[in-house]
Amino acid sequence: MTAPAVAAFRGQFRRTPDLAVSAPGRVNLLGEHTDYNGGPVLPMAISRRTTVAAARADDWRFASGEEPGAITVDVHAELRRDWTDYVTGVVRELQAIGAAPDGAHLTISSTVPIGAGLSSSAALTVAAARALSALAGRRLDGRALAEIAYRAEHDQVGVRCGRMDQTIASLARPRHALLFETASGEITEVPMPGRVLVVETGRSHRLTGGELNARRSECEAALAALRARWPELNALCALPAASLGEAERLLPDALFRRVRHLVTETARTRRAAVALRAGDLAALGELLVAGQRSLATDFESSIPEADLIVDSAVRHGAYGARLTGAGWGGAVLVLTPEAEGRVVIRGIRRDFAAAFGRRPVAWTTRAAGGVRRERV
Ligand code: ADP
Ligand code: MG
Repeated sequence: MTAPAVAAFRGQFRRTPDLAVSAPGRVNLLGEHTDYNGGPVLPMAISRRTTVAAARADDWRFASGEEPGAITVDVHAELRRDWTDYVTGVVRELQAIGAAPDGAHLTISSTVPIGAGLSSSAALTVAAARALSALAGRRLDGRALAEIAYRAEHDQVGVRCGRMDQTIASLARPRHALLFETASGEITEVPMPGRVLVVETGRSHRLTGGELNARRSECEAALAALRARWPELNALCALPAASLGEAERLLPDALFRRVRHLVTETARTRRAAVALRAGDLAALGELLVAGQRSLATDFESSIPEADLIVDSAVRHGAYGARLTGAGWGGAVLVLTPEAEGRVVIRGIRRDFAAAFGRRPVAWTTRAAGGVRRERV
């Protein structure tokens, strides 16, 4: 993991980095779009990670394996509207709490697919936050790192994301998922011993300024409308399921369906954590499929490629599957009985190729650990 990152740093800056830090991507088992609506999420970290190698310097220079050369950045000037903004955002947020170095050179090496719904952005911001604060001689705990990374992406870059991705990248524990209740901030570790199959749809989403921001505005409009009836309602995920009938009469159809997704998803996510604790992967699988249907019909964030992969997975013997991450592209997570894995992958590849004329990239992972220092 660190060898390529250190080699990249040496190649770029002709010296050895002071330190290296890695943080994981993630799949979200269940709880989609609930993290910015006061509901629960159930993510687990994956084995793909982003490594930031860094050294103190007099200026700010960032390099990524995604493109050649290092970019010199003025962190106080206007954002450049490219990937460097994620790092600049972290620098600014660290400066705001007095935990930034005076300058740094850093390189980013990653095995997390970018824009595939596996949270390459939070892997980057969390790793950068830990690396840069360490250069300044500060040790921030996991929650503080998640908050810096969240503010970098949300307040600086301007993606109206929730806190799920940064939280799991910071606080993940191997062989566990996290049940994160975003309203209270409560985090519970839930055992996740098995493997998960990840199938990339091959369609990339670009969140900045995209559909996610539009959905978020719809959620705000729905909440405002429902508060006229229930003034004490402070988040859509807090709406009792028994009130959905009345909500349907109060809202335009599209807004109602967004709300119905959030309310039913909240229940599914908590039930999924119960199923995992009981080791009942079949029950978890059924919840995944119900979640996928809800994304497709109510939240309208799925795509045909994902719908096909989910149907195919179930037909070939998977417990369940669903599009993970914000949607409009990205990857599908598939839960299969250990012995059925190969049959399921083969079946999905065949069905996908027949429909879309190409083979999807697929790989398996176990639940991995969160941000950590790496040896240089
Ligand atoms: P994802 O689902 O992968 O998090 P996002 O749209 O949220 O998708 O974030 C992707 C963006 O994060 C990229 O467009 C880029 O700006 C930044 N990013 C992520 N990983 C890297 C990397 N290794 N090098 C440079 N930029 C990266
Ligand atoms: Mg992201």
